[in-house]
Amino acid sequence: MAKIKYMSENLANKIQAGEVVERISSVVKELSENSIDAASKSITINLENGGLTKIEVIDDGIGMDEEDASLCFGRHATSKLIREDDLFFINTLGFRGEALPSIASVSEVTLLTSTGKVGTELHLKGGKVLSKKSAPAYQGTKITVTNLFYNTPARLKYLKSEQAELNHTISLVERLALSHPDIKFTLTNNAKVIVKTSGSNDLKKTIHEIYGLQVSSKLIEIKGSNDDYDVYGYICKPEILKSNRNHMITIVNDRVVKNMDLNRAINDAYYTYKPDIKYPIVVLKIDTDPTLIDVNIHPTKQDIKLSKVDELYNLIVGLIKDALYQNLLIPVMNIKPQSEIENENIVNNFIQEEESIYNAKDNDNIQTTLDLSYKETKPAIITPNEKIKNLVLYPVGLALGTYIIAENEDGIYLIDQHAAQERINYEKYLNALKNEKVSTTKLLIPITIELSSSEFNKIQENMNLLTKMGFTLEEFGINTYLVKEHPTWLKVGYEEEQIRKIIDLVIAKEADFDYIKFNEHIAITLACKMSIKANMHISYEAMEELLQELVNTSNPYNCPHGRPTIIHFTKYDLEKMFKRVMN
Ligand code: ZN
Ligand code: ZN
Repeated sequence: MAKIKYMSENLANKIQAGEVVERISSVVKELSENSIDAASKSITINLENGGLTKIEVIDDGIGMDEEDASLCFGRHATSKLIREDDLFFINTLGFRGEALPSIASVSEVTLLTSTGKVGTELHLKGGKVLSKKSAPAYQGTKITVTNLFYNTPARLKYLKSEQAELNHTISLVERLALSHPDIKFTLTNNAKVIVKTSGSNDLKKTIHEIYGLQVSSKLIEIKGSNDDYDVYGYICKPEILKSNRNHMITIVNDRVVKNMDLNRAINDAYYTYKPDIKYPIVVLKIDTDPTLIDVNIHPTKQDIKLSKVDELYNLIVGLIKDALYQNLLIPVMNIKPQSEIENENIVNNFIQEEESIYNAKDNDNIQTTLDLSYKETKPAIITPNEKIKNLVLYPVGLALGTYIIAENEDGIYLIDQHAAQERINYEKYLNALKNEKVSTTKLLIPITIELSSSEFNKIQENMNLLTKMGFTLEEFGINTYLVKEHPTWLKVGYEEEQIRKIIDLVIAKEADFDYIKFNEHIAITLACKMSIKANMHISYEAMEELLQELVNTSNPYNCPHGRPTIIHFTKYDLEKMFKRVMN
């Protein structure tokens, strides 16, 4: 009995747009998803010249009998959809099962397939069957696509360089592999293996196989549920950051999706653990009832709409924040031969090429040159959280006017004095701003603030904001305000400077104003302004106090801009560097 059914004309029209095959990776995607649907345990994708010459997908799935093999290239053939409602259920992966005829219509295709009994070999060009014969009965399917777009020159021209097409395909196969850790994926180009996973059904191992040890050694597992969603996956410690969002991978019901809300949740959870323009490596598997998902059926998009998205947002943000906070995140200097680091990166270099353009203009170099790996937390009675709170750092001195050198029995620490104080001040300001009950200080001599007329108007419009913060402003002549009262949390001796800064921020306030973000912005700006700068020498006592305050903050590891505050050299590493120990 053939498994392939024909769908209604209406449904066919709905997904007609899906017939667009744009590039090499879209062909690989369709063929691989068919293989996944065919319950394959192993999928091999072999490309020649990045797929421009040849694309071959081999699987060990259920295969097709002779009848299905002939039907599968017919218009609107699909084994996956029969009812229109089904379009809205994401559980069926390759819901665009009609892609096969589309691919066949613009290329030369050889299909070799068998359910394990008889085998069928079909050869097509431009969608027309040129030959059909019986073939060996090895269960599975092998599809070879050559001469892609030979009859559609416009699309042929649209294809990018071999390397660019290959980069897309690598990224695609990595995502497929991460969303199906139980399937063994192999991607080769000109017989060179580029991606290889073992099908271990172990997500962490699969991440290791794709990103290498540098990343897999810095993963934190997260797991949690609410009434509607189960979330499981791995997040990377914030020292490993990328210049784009491509490595924030979200998988909903086994399908990789692009969803703004999910990206926002991840990004918000890392707030102040990283600079805004950097993104973490995150692989999140989200499982839910398919009725909560609305699939955008536009063929080129992997976008979906989620119901109860606020609850999901809170769940994800909570899980990631907890995981970051619960782990001792002080980077440890790790001296490694350069060659070793390079080896681990071979696979990723393909994609990083695109990123390097961004890296070049990016002057913060948190993760590029050093291999900063985090100190492992030993299982102990105390939680890691208490461990950082109990971390005693004895200052030794100040280097380069910038870095406090501190020590304890575990080794040496370098602390960026500006970044550390910025973190402390940021949390102080933020707490003060969040506090509903504001205590204020009346000024005996009011501070005069002169503004341009547009600035004056802007302040007038937003007076409620300033009042809420604890300011009392009085109009005083043309475009001038007198500040008569201010919140007490302003740093003594710098009141005027801080007031001017806050007024500047109110004037610069964006149209899509968000009160919480605004407060955070104020806290960060003031913290930076009010913190000791590099080349300012502070006393030993001040260092002691600073370090004590730092370990008591909610995130002692990063300044509010996401830069690291503290780096650790373990005693063992030092002994290794000085060859006091030899292994
Ligand atoms: Zn700063
Ligand atoms: Zn900073």
